Order: sequence, then structure tokens, then C-alpha cells
Amino acid sequence: MSAAEFAIFELTRTRAEVEFLSRQIGSALGTCHDLQMKSDDGSPIVEHLKDAYAMTSDQNEDGGSSDRYFVNHDGDVGAYLIATCWNCLTAHHAIQDRKLARKQYGIAKRRIALMGTNMMKEEK
Ligand SMILES: [Zn+2]
Repeated sequence: MSAAEFAIFELTRTRAEVEFLSRQIGSALGTCHDLQMKSDDGSPIVEHLKDAYAMTSDQNEDGGSSDRYFVNHDGDVGAYLIATCWNCLTAHHAIQDRKLARKQYGIAKRRIALMGTNMMKEEK
């Protein structure tokens, strides 16, 4: 596989991974027994996940905010969701995986853009 072929393969692979994980998240949230609502952009808001991710921060005396911390647990989202909802736990894991996949997709896009830039320089 040439470098260009690898770059195209990586772009395609990482995009498919992001799409797969997005479907997995949707499917997991769709089976959550919790009440579901839609946010402004149409994506579902599941209370279990919202509660698991909810953060707050103390106000300093000067009005600035200090350390942020989770409202409903001591920082272990996974442990909180094990006790709360297995479907949302599955979604949480897929959300973490998708963050990584999106990062890799971004790298793959930048790699192709850089190759294109280099090709333009070689044309001159
Ligand atoms: Zn749930």
C-alpha cells in the first residue's frame, strides 16, 4: 500500500468508525428506559447520561469559578452508570470511543490535505 493509498484507507476507515459508533450510541440510548427528550439540535437528551455528565464548580470569593466537579458522583462516570442504567453505560463507552475515532478522522483528513499541499508545491 502506498502512502497515498494508506491515507485514503485511513480516511475511509475512521469515517466509517465514527458513523458506526454514532449508530451504536443512538441504538443504546434508544433502549434506555428513561424518559427521553430532544435537544434543540434534535439529538436525544437522556436523563441518565445528563445526570452522569452533570458538573458544577464552586464560586471563589472574587466571583471566579474554581475546580469543577461532578454533581452526582465522585468522578467515575462508568461506576455511576453501572448502578444507574446499562444502556446508558453502553452509550457512554461508545461516546468515549467516538471521541477517539473523531480525533483519528481529523488526523486522516489533515494527512490528505498535507499531501495535497505538497503535490501542489511539486507542480510548481
Ligand atoms: Zn439510561
